Amino acid sequence: MSMQKPQYDVCIIGGSIAGNYLAYLLSSSNLNILIIEEHTEIGLPFQCAGIISKKLTQLINVPREIILNRVKIAKLVGPSGRSIELSGEEEPYIVDRIALDKSFYEKSKAKSNVTYNLGEKFKNFRYIKKNTNTLVEIETSEGSYITKILVGCDGPLSPVGKQVGVRNKNIFGTQIRIKGNWDENTAFMYFDPRWKESFGWIVPEGNKTYRIGMGAGREISENFKTYLGILNVEIKKKISQQGGLIPIGKMNKCAFDNILLVGDSARQVKATTGGGVVMLLSAAKLAARCIMRCFELNDFSKKVIKKNYEKPCKRSIGKQLTINYLIRLVLQNLDKTDFDDLFSIIEDTKIGEIISLHGDMDFPLSLVLRLARNSSFLKFILRFLKKNPTLVVQLVKSLIF
Ligand SMILES: Cc1cc2nc3c(=O)[nH]c(=O)nc-3n(C[C@H](O)[C@H](O)[C@H](O)COP(=O)(O)OP(=O)(O)OC[C@H]3O[C@@H](n4cnc5c(N)ncnc54)[C@H](O)[C@@H]3O)c2cc1C
Repeated sequence: MSMQKPQYDVCIIGGSIAGNYLAYLLSSSNLNILIIEEHTEIGLPFQCAGIISKKLTQLINVPREIILNRVKIAKLVGPSGRSIELSGEEEPYIVDRIALDKSFYEKSKAKSNVTYNLGEKFKNFRYIKKNTNTLVEIETSEGSYITKILVGCDGPLSPVGKQVGVRNKNIFGTQIRIKGNWDENTAFMYFDPRWKESFGWIVPEGNKTYRIGMGAGREISENFKTYLGILNVEIKKKISQQGGLIPIGKMNKCAFDNILLVGDSARQVKATTGGGVVMLLSAAKLAARCIMRCFELNDFSKKVIKKNYEKPCKRSIGKQLTINYLIRLVLQNLDKTDFDDLFSIIEDTKIGEIISLHGDMDFPLSLVLRLARNSSFLKFILRFLKKNPTLVVQLVKSLIF
């Protein structure tokens, strides 16, 4: 006789922000939840600049000590060195990401229906039939488990996603923490065709400590060296260094039979900035609601998960993620002169004001619609698109498919 495999209602792969927050949301239900995380300590390795819009506190209760600073100004620097400053209502938070991940972990772990297996690696899964029900059997480095729902909160390379055919296009992100003397109210963004898939950032975490990093599609170490050279920063003075992958594109598929993908695994990340936290917190809320609905109906089919998770995700964050991606496509095709022209237009017209009033770090759709009504901006975009006809095709394709 074979040993009975441990059974759970929900098994979450990945104990980072998406996994811990989803576990927390489900922990007040009567479901039995297992979280499998390959690292032995929650929050590590640290891979985040920790800049999150004010929506953070609208979405979740954030313990005070997790917020380290708030920035009032965004300074955008173009490839020629020309810059503009934008400020507004947004005032994003700079957070302690390790503490944020840990806070949800501590809360969920305290519940008797939640089990954390740390230092255990998910390998693969297979569908099994029990009476008329389809269940999922997962195999890990330590054994196997049976679950009704499997959630991939397993990041950009998502092994769960891979098995259901979801692949992400990822860029590299790298960052150092260092002492410095920049303005502590300003976050800097350095744009350059060499790291066109993203930008270089300086994020002040307070206490004269800064997170200096960048995202790039290729040659990340070379580009990072160049960037630090521009800033006149000596890498050997760093306090620490971190890095990771950032998925870039539109939101991916996230509903399958008995399976949901939440967070970076489903590319719920803004292609403009690489920021994922607001998006994945919103998605995790929808995921938790969908999971409860599946148990109510005792139906774990793709059809139910699509209706209750993927579709609501598409309607809310998905639409905005697409706009973010279109903006990214435009940004990565701007050359030195385009940036200079764009910055001049922003300075000379009322665009700066429009951005300050309607600029939303996560949901840019309303800003885009307002900017489209500004004749100087519209002229600039039309001139730019005329110069880049292949981009027009790419933009239209991205909007449709
Ligand atoms: C350099 C950098 C800077 C960033 N800056 C910002 C920022 O300023 N603001 C912002 O909002 N976002 C930022 N992001 C993005 C943000 O960090 C991510 O969107 C977020 O961490 C995604 O959370 P997640 O839980 O979906 O996935 P992840 O944080 O990637 O976590 C996935 C988890 O799954 C685990 N896992 C993977 N495979 C397995 C397996 N086989 N078995 C068991 N466990 C597994 C991993 O160990 C990990 O803990 C940044 C990212 C990078 C790389």
